Amino acid sequence: MKRILVTGGAGFIGSHLCERLLNEGNDVICLDNYFTGSKKNIVHLLDHPFFELVRHDVTQSYYAEVDEIYNLACPASPIHYQYNPIKTVKTSVMGAINMLGLAKRIKAKILQASTSEVYGDPAVHPQPESYWGNVNPVGARSCYDEGKRCAETLFMDYHKQNQVKIKVVRIFNTYGPNMHPNDGRVVSNFIVQALKNKDITIYGDGSQTRSFQYVDDLVEGMMRMMHTGNDVTGPVNLGNPIEYTILELAGKIIDLTGSKSKINYSELPQDDPVQRKPDIRMARNLLNEWVPHVEIHEGLTKTIEYFKNKIQ
Ligand code: NAD
Ligand code: UDP
Repeated sequence: MKRILVTGGAGFIGSHLCERLLNEGNDVICLDNYFTGSKKNIVHLLDHPFFELVRHDVTQSYYAEVDEIYNLACPASPIHYQYNPIKTVKTSVMGAINMLGLAKRIKAKILQASTSEVYGDPAVHPQPESYWGNVNPVGARSCYDEGKRCAETLFMDYHKQNQVKIKVVRIFNTYGPNMHPNDGRVVSNFIVQALKNKDITIYGDGSQTRSFQYVDDLVEGMMRMMHTGNDVTGPVNLGNPIEYTILELAGKIIDLTGSKSKINYSELPQDDPVQRKPDIRMARNLLNEWVPHVEIHEGLTKTIEYFKNKIQ
């Protein structure tokens, strides 16, 4: 039995990862400060004999003997990471230093949840891992984008300097149950608005694109990445390469919910990327033919069911 630490484990992705790791017979420590996560996401795991919950902030050092660390702690939605941008940078950078220090000391493998935001507003499309990105260092999204970029640098340097066994995955837009209803991200916003027959808030003209990955596909990819040999460090993209405009996404959600919502257009936020789509050839090669399997209608239907129960 492996002992595994998941930072940010009470969040959207972390809660799915904790559940999957427990189901596969691991001993899981879920660490979270509950900034955007919630005990509600993991309450069904609390009685499990091999699940432990720790209230802790990754900007402070932490010690436990574990075999693997998944470092997910960081707010991921623009409204949340922009709420206290200095704290967001601290979480990414000091969190990475603390968790890498722990991994070095106890000789654990450590996986970093990096992001497609390292590509910024990408000039190369789709985005391969070799693309260095187009990031504004002083804009509204910089605390997150640059924090995550610095965390990647730290991971690579701990690997080169101290031989820490690192894995870096760049996660593209992911959705599914356990997203917070007021999270502010596009899938949760549109579903909640559609279910309440309220206006669907499209920022800009809705022609910007994103590629949406269902959370189960991501969790599978992250676990396969953790199990690769020590020579595989990444960064590796994990995302669904099927690209939609935001307007198309709104249409799908209106159809699937049978909503009477109308579209309301408002101003596009600063530095909002125009396009985003992962090149997943590297993941496919390194992760035993990993590809996303859940297509958008199936994933949205499951997510809509979750929100129906959540907001009624
Ligand atoms: P989330 O906000 O639901 O989860 C983040 C979790 O981290 C929350 O439980 C939060 O309380 C916790 N946290 C935040 N700051 C912390 C701190 N200082 N100390 C301890 N815990 C802290 O977001 P998510 O979508 O589950 O994202 C998880 C990770 O995946 C993040 O690192 C995010 O950057 C990355 N990611 C997510 C996406 C996506 O589309 N969901 C895309 C790219 C990258
Ligand atoms: N978006 C939107 N309406 C919303 C929320 C988001 O039009 O209510 C847009 C947003 O401007 C962006 C896209 O949807 O172009 C994805 O936004 P999200 O915050 O989910 O993720 P990110 O921009 O980080 O990819």
